[in-house]
Amino acid sequence: MTEQETLKQWIEESHNIVFFGGAGVSTESGIPDFRSQDGLYNQEYDYPPETVISHSFYRRNPEEFFRFYRNRMIMTDARPNKAHLALGRLEQEGRLKAVITQNIDGLHQMAGSREVLELHGSIHRNYCQRCGRFYGLEAVTEAEGVPKCSCGGIIKPDVVLYEEGLDQRILQKAVEYISHAEVLIIGGTSLAVYPAAGLIDYYEGNKLVLINKSATARDAYADLVIHEPIGKVFEELGF
Ligand code: NAD
Repeated sequence: MTEQETLKQWIEESHNIVFFGGAGVSTESGIPDFRSQDGLYNQEYDYPPETVISHSFYRRNPEEFFRFYRNRMIMTDARPNKAHLALGRLEQEGRLKAVITQNIDGLHQMAGSREVLELHGSIHRNYCQRCGRFYGLEAVTEAEGVPKCSCGGIIKPDVVLYEEGLDQRILQKAVEYISHAEVLIIGGTSLAVYPAAGLIDYYEGNKLVLINKSATARDAYADLVIHEPIGKVFEELGF
């Protein structure tokens, strides 16, 4: 059996699949990741993305933060690709329990997934740092410069910046799903950003699947490794 055939069989036989993904899941929707060749780390900016989207940079230089964030992190035209859509369907069929994502783009929900654990937050949620009022995405996309609340406070995206901690309740829930999963599919992540990347260690089963274009440091731990674009893989599987 080929890797793809084995994966298809594991998916068809299970009702306890968990998916854990990163930026690579959305590149086929036109959103650049960080570490691929055409990812954000290899583009020319005054500062590396890790610096700009850090908490201290946001505090020091909000104008530059929002310029980068608006231009490079928010793609309002992006639509779910075959991977997002397949995962949404697998959940509806009762095969997949949850999607755990490092992405902030909201494409899994747009594809119909309901149980989505957003480890790094979402561009779709924004709040005033002074009065706590909540805003949608337009508050950021339609503002010029630093988005401001009617009370005068800065509207901050509800995304986890570098140097900020993860929501412990979401992390705990992710650990529970992963530690009880029968099949764990990890896709489109370099597994380089902690603590999210450490979640893989909680898996106790023997059907760990890694779908990533390039090799990751964890390939040797996986029971099945596929180095192909993830949308193409799901399309070929026919889900
Ligand atoms: P990363 O950029 O470190 O790694 C992405 C990985 O996906 C790479 O190893 C690359 O080879 C692989 N990849 C790219 N396209 C692929 C495809 N079509 N199919 C399969 N694999 C593919 O991303 P990361 O590990 O998620 O970590 C970066 C951090 O940046 C995350 O924490 C995330 O929150 C954030 N981020 C989010 C978005 C988004 O919301 N779409 C985009 C960029 C960065």
